[in-house]
Amino acid sequence: MIRRFLLIVFTLPLWSQSVPFDVLITGGRVVDGSGSPWYFADVGIRGDVVVAIGQLGNAPAAARIDARGMVVAPGFVDIHSHGRRGIAAVPTAENYLREGVTTIIEGPDGSSPLPISTFLDGIRKLPISVNFATFVGQGSIRQSVVGLANRPATPEELDKMKAIAAQAMRDGAFGLSTGLFYVPGNFTPTEEVIELAKVVGKLGGIHISHMREEASHVLDSVRETIRIGEEGGLPTQITHHKMIGQPSWGKSVESLKLVEEARARGVDVTIDQYPYTASSTGIAALVPQWALEGGQTATRERLAAPEQRARIKAAIVQNLTVDRGAGDPKNVAIANCPFDAGLAGKNLTQITQARGQQPTMENAAETVMDLVDKGGCSAVYHAIAEEDVVRIMRSPFTMIASDGDIPVFGQGAPHPRYYGTFARVLGVYVREKHVLTLEDAVRRMSSFPAQRLKIWDRGMLRPGMKADVIVFDPATVADRADYDKPHQYSVGVRDVLVNGKFVLRQDKVTAERPGRVIVGPAAAR
Ligand SMILES: [Zn+2]
Repeated sequence: MIRRFLLIVFTLPLWSQSVPFDVLITGGRVVDGSGSPWYFADVGIRGDVVVAIGQLGNAPAAARIDARGMVVAPGFVDIHSHGRRGIAAVPTAENYLREGVTTIIEGPDGSSPLPISTFLDGIRKLPISVNFATFVGQGSIRQSVVGLANRPATPEELDKMKAIAAQAMRDGAFGLSTGLFYVPGNFTPTEEVIELAKVVGKLGGIHISHMREEASHVLDSVRETIRIGEEGGLPTQITHHKMIGQPSWGKSVESLKLVEEARARGVDVTIDQYPYTASSTGIAALVPQWALEGGQTATRERLAAPEQRARIKAAIVQNLTVDRGAGDPKNVAIANCPFDAGLAGKNLTQITQARGQQPTMENAAETVMDLVDKGGCSAVYHAIAEEDVVRIMRSPFTMIASDGDIPVFGQGAPHPRYYGTFARVLGVYVREKHVLTLEDAVRRMSSFPAQRLKIWDRGMLRPGMKADVIVFDPATVADRADYDKPHQYSVGVRDVLVNGKFVLRQDKVTAERPGRVIVGPAAAR
């Protein structure tokens, strides 16, 4: 009797190692994130880990999910996110959950809060649904040392910036983002970026760039991004790659060639992209960069000086004609104006007409200067060709990223990419247009960005990986948000687990907030 009793006690722990599961997802097609073809398997989760994949259908489990007819995939990793403010107001990040995103990476475009330790500690205090990570912004580092001045840094300033970059990496950043298009990144010589890149690269980080120019000089910008990787000795990434303005349409042929040639000679350069033919950024993107030096007050003074105002206006007209305006003021739509909520969704033609003027390029430029004078707005620019979107998407070096924020549902008129990026790839570019296979699309949204960031325990479905898992219907998954009605959640993603907990179950957002702050290679070591 005693011996038998001991046997039972002894075998219990062994038995509990294999079953039961906390969550068992049965009967689905597993698309594991590697790019390999789907296969049928059950996925068993215990705690925050995927512990088994195989024929597990009869095993006991606290929660069972019937995934027949559905795809079971790793949660998506968004390598370009602007969710740091939105996540405090909307900790569920519901727009992201409903497109299958389980990890977001902040700090893009050269902009991040500093120091990174304080920033991440603030996020750690929030009850969030998705995992959160960050880059450190070169523009933010420069602003803290050099201010908004248009000049190279002194050697002393450069040393200070290198020290901040190194500390940011040790605090958990995944690399250095640049926004060489924006103030003050645009005042930075390439050589100065390379010096910071060397520091970040030695600590295991990557460089990711919102490039200096994405219109008529886009190829020069691609060369610069590659050079930063090559001379900085680190992986480098062209973020939200696109060709803005009609004269640049088709240049993706050459930009992809530059990327291929660089990789062939040993430069680790990659690309990310959102699947839309419009971009979104501040209205100041239409203003020449010299007019932005020194910040808002200085810009206002220039707008009040007749000679400078005339030069600014001429540059805006040029920009509306061949760059972000793509030849017509109606191609520029206001997303959000802090000083006038009523402008959201209206384009420059409509706003100019409402001011009692003909919607000429010149009058539209006056409208832009007025909006900038009042403090600026965010805007959506319809100036990208679908052919370039598709060509860039097909490149083996392209991953998907949203460049999106976490919006308060119904507020403003944000770019639809906030709600739709990942679902749109699955619905439009996999199911409808056959640009990518399902498996390849999932890979570009999961294991590829995870590998890029050296996040080795997410982005794939394998035993031992963290249980960020999504279940979606490949026949119905789709984006719903468009430019007229951007506040529409994507559909077809039914269940989302983050760190083993349901954040979306049977289409309903749960009360769980299992999201964690993930830190980069220099902090994790
Ligand atoms: Zn950007």
